[in-house]
Amino acid sequence: MKNKIVINTLTLFISLVTLNSCTSQNSKLSHQDQKAAPVVVQKPITKISKTKEEWSQQLNEQEFYVLREKGTERPWTGDLLKNKERGIYTCAACQLPLFNSGTKFESGTGWPSFYDAIDKDVVIEHEDNTYGMSRVEVVCGRCDGHLGHVFDDGPKPTGLRYCINSVSLDFEKTDP
Ligand SMILES: [Zn+2]
Repeated sequence: MKNKIVINTLTLFISLVTLNSCTSQNSKLSHQDQKAAPVVVQKPITKISKTKEEWSQQLNEQEFYVLREKGTERPWTGDLLKNKERGIYTCAACQLPLFNSGTKFESGTGWPSFYDAIDKDVVIEHEDNTYGMSRVEVVCGRCDGHLGHVFDDGPKPTGLRYCINSVSLDFEKTDP
């Protein structure tokens, strides 16, 4: 009898832990003090258009898969996921500045998450109804490279959660 209670408690505990790791409700801001100096984006943004062959020569296999074929990297694998340095996240394909480190937060999803883009024009939103889900895809405002998706369950002040593939991003560290 006692063993059963222990096992039940354990099962409940494991369920709670699993549940927690799948939601972003417990997201917390931890990078507010890591805000890099604002970046001025040159307007209008001049589009970059390359053929599939040109992109495949410029990008590595994983970058090409995510950026040009709308793939998704495996969660918890991205090298920028746990990056807490002060700086600017840029498009890995065309180096357009996309996100400021000050807007990065820990969402618990396994992908780098931001609550705002550097400028409203650096990311473009597309309706995405693939895989039986209704989502909003975000692509680079200059090269149309696939970045990830944006959801409306993010933290204040925007309430947005840009869920971005680490492989779609480069990072430019700025001085403290
Ligand atoms: Zn780009």
